[in-house]
Amino acid sequence: MSQELNPFKIAQRQFDEAAEVLGLDPATRALLREPMREFHVTFPVRMDDGTVKVFKGFRVQYNDARGPTKGGLRFHPAETIDTVRALAAWMTWKTAVVGIPLGGGKGGVICNPKELSLGELERVSRGYIRALGHYIGDEIDVPAPDVYTTPQVMAWMMDEYSVMKGYNVPGVITGKPIPLGGSAGRGDATARGGIYTVREAAKILGIDLNGATAAIQGYGNAGQFAHHLCVELLGQKVVAISDSRGGIYNPEGLDFEACVAHKKTTGSVINFPGAKNITNEELLELDVVVLYPAALENVITKENAPRIKAKISAELANGPTTPEADVILHENGVYVIPDFLCNAGGVTVSYFEQVQNAYDYYWPLVEVQAKLDEIMTNAFHAVHEAAQEYKVHNRIAAYLVSVQRVAEAAKLRGWV
Ligand code: NAD
Repeated sequence: MSQELNPFKIAQRQFDEAAEVLGLDPATRALLREPMREFHVTFPVRMDDGTVKVFKGFRVQYNDARGPTKGGLRFHPAETIDTVRALAAWMTWKTAVVGIPLGGGKGGVICNPKELSLGELERVSRGYIRALGHYIGDEIDVPAPDVYTTPQVMAWMMDEYSVMKGYNVPGVITGKPIPLGGSAGRGDATARGGIYTVREAAKILGIDLNGATAAIQGYGNAGQFAHHLCVELLGQKVVAISDSRGGIYNPEGLDFEACVAHKKTTGSVINFPGAKNITNEELLELDVVVLYPAALENVITKENAPRIKAKISAELANGPTTPEADVILHENGVYVIPDFLCNAGGVTVSYFEQVQNAYDYYWPLVEVQAKLDEIMTNAFHAVHEAAQEYKVHNRIAAYLVSVQRVAEAAKLRGWV
């Protein structure tokens, strides 16, 4: 049988497995395995050459039983509604696993930001908000950055929404630049939260991370900060990194500053002096202690899972591992820190940003980081304990913790 790679079908299959273990009633199952609400929009954008191009965008508000929906926006040429649905479902489980009072949502625009000028990117960002502004808001649904969207994109979107409202609404979007109400610590929050979970996993597994090797797939927000922080906080040695054009490997270790500078000047990490070029596939199979998938979905499948040698796979990306691969990794003793736990640091600090916007009072960086550490550490141990108690692998354990919490909220509201 061919392997299912539709991310939403995968998300539903993972949910079904957890619902079965929990013995959820049919109504709760039916409610939680589908999005509550979704929007498909088409909007025109004036391009630099004077022509008008029409873009397609999505926003999925998956479930708001625990609070307003929350989740990032992707600008990607291969964006599909099913990817957005899956990511919105995972946001629902993510906010629940870390116990913040939010639901889950996600959005995207089918576009290639690498082919847009800065002005066109701004008009796409504003066009998306004009199309959807009436259906989002700080008490309804709050977007944030994701693949190929940046703090600047968030700033334009916040401004467009504020223009629609007629007053300043910083809390409509998170991941904003700090002068516009962004939170200290949001930039590296996704990677930092993941690093805290790796630290906890290593304690449980009895692994000394000092000098332990790491490979990172994807060198954007999540991947670059993971490089910096796994060295700074855990003393790891990063031997391989990659981006969409390929990867590099140096068993002696790769210097963070030099890699970032190289990517900045050449547009990619490949052809880095002193390192060997490798493929993204080779990177995943390296004999390292910690693997950080930090790019896109479905990169660890039943084909390559048997060859994964890492002791810990810390999933900063969403959906990097297929369900078939999950079983193989579990049998082979690879300790997976599942995506919606491992990368929940981003939404956690986004939530802090919303709280600070509501109070118009801003916390120092050390306070943000201490609060993030506490939340991530507690969430990690809740999932680890569920895995022990129910004798399931970590991803299903994370689902058990989250689905229970969302189901409880839906029940208390009287929905099911
Ligand atoms: P980004 O746009 O900053 O970076 C994406 C990186 O992935 C780039 O380096 C790009 O070159 C690389 N990439 C793209 N296609 C690739 C391929 N086929 N093979 C290898 N590398 C490839 O995005 P990001 O924000 O770092 O997001 C990366 C992952 O982390 C996504 O799965 C995203 O959903 C997840 N995530 C991000 C955040 C956040 O706060 N940014 C939060 C939670 C989860």
